[in-house]
Amino acid sequence: MTIVPNFQTAIDPQKLEKLAEVAVKVGLGLEKGQDLVITAPVAALPLVRFITKHAYMAGAGIVSAFYSDEETTLARYRHAPDASFDKAAGWLYEGMAKAYENGAARLAIAGDNPMLLSEQDPSKVARANKANSMAYKPALEKIANFDINWNIVSYPNPSWARQVFPDLPEDAAVAKLADAIFAASRVDVADPVAAWAEHNANLKKRSTWLNGERFAALHFTGPGTDLTVGLADGHEWHGGASKAKNGIICNPNIPTEEVFTTPHALKVEGHVSSTKPLSHQGTLIDDIQVRFEGGRIIEAKASKGEEVLNKVLDTDEGARRLGEVALVPHSSPISASGILFYNTLFDENASCHIALGQCYSKCFLDGASLTPDEIKAQGGNSSLIHIDWMIGSDKVDIDGIRPDGSRVPVMRKGEWA
Ligand code: ZN
Ligand code: ZN
Repeated sequence: MTIVPNFQTAIDPQKLEKLAEVAVKVGLGLEKGQDLVITAPVAALPLVRFITKHAYMAGAGIVSAFYSDEETTLARYRHAPDASFDKAAGWLYEGMAKAYENGAARLAIAGDNPMLLSEQDPSKVARANKANSMAYKPALEKIANFDINWNIVSYPNPSWARQVFPDLPEDAAVAKLADAIFAASRVDVADPVAAWAEHNANLKKRSTWLNGERFAALHFTGPGTDLTVGLADGHEWHGGASKAKNGIICNPNIPTEEVFTTPHALKVEGHVSSTKPLSHQGTLIDDIQVRFEGGRIIEAKASKGEEVLNKVLDTDEGARRLGEVALVPHSSPISASGILFYNTLFDENASCHIALGQCYSKCFLDGASLTPDEIKAQGGNSSLIHIDWMIGSDKVDIDGIRPDGSRVPVMRKGEWA
């Protein structure tokens, strides 16, 4: 029995190898002698093999891959005793944290079925998620604090492709999703590494402008949205390539179209509606409407997945506050593809978004030298979760508000003003 029987034929192996090369050279900036920890769905084995090859060609020390499998995950929900849902493989995450402490880079391959757990008991899903978030904390901190170079890329998993293109036969769905991933990841051009250098320069131009403006807040208006997002004191905008604390320049997300920074955890006011469904750990949450007071979500509704949303918000105190605000033009290539990916890595790069939970310490001036207490004092949020959801569309306007109250148009109808 082979693990990946027919789908490889639907995926262009040359482009898949280019994606692996981009992940190693642009995504990770992997250095000679650096170890690499990979997590991936088992269906992504062909991509893991290419990445491993290019990692060793770049001089990797040891490459270790850990696989997840959808049937194995479902077996737990179907057959495990109730107490299982408060457990997580903490020993594994501690090991990963140790690898990062010792200098390893981290690469995650996304592409799970976004609806995998939609038929399962939401309270079990929430308990398992919470146990996992708590156990994952030592490893997540190294990533969220940008201690190490890390990267996420995607693989066109058949179960994901079926969700994105439900009307196509599976092979055609996989081929179409593969093409969309290759285009969004800029590997369908002659020289992907050069294309990424140009793209990074454009994103840098946007973040440099925003950093020069030093807005105190952003004001979003649109259908169902009137939201003022105060920005953290000493916030810094980032986009594209950036330098991890280990000194390595990497592109954490492939694809990426966003420039983003840290909101002030106590200074978010008003209401906001989501513009795309959010796929969270196998559950779809749609038509989110929340109201903020003093930075805290005091009311949350959703037409689908409301129970899971409210459980997420109860994870901890920081789960009801924002840790990220990001700007993406409506004309971004991912948005222009018109495809709804049901995958945050893609959908968040098709739309302006906000994230509940943990902030990124690198989104502060001199962030690397700030202590957690200093970050908190400047308005940075902390939480076990970091969940992005989409609030941008071609009907949303954004103003930048200066400390003196004057306004500057930042986006009009979803495009840079
Ligand atoms: Zn983001
Ligand atoms: Zn985010």
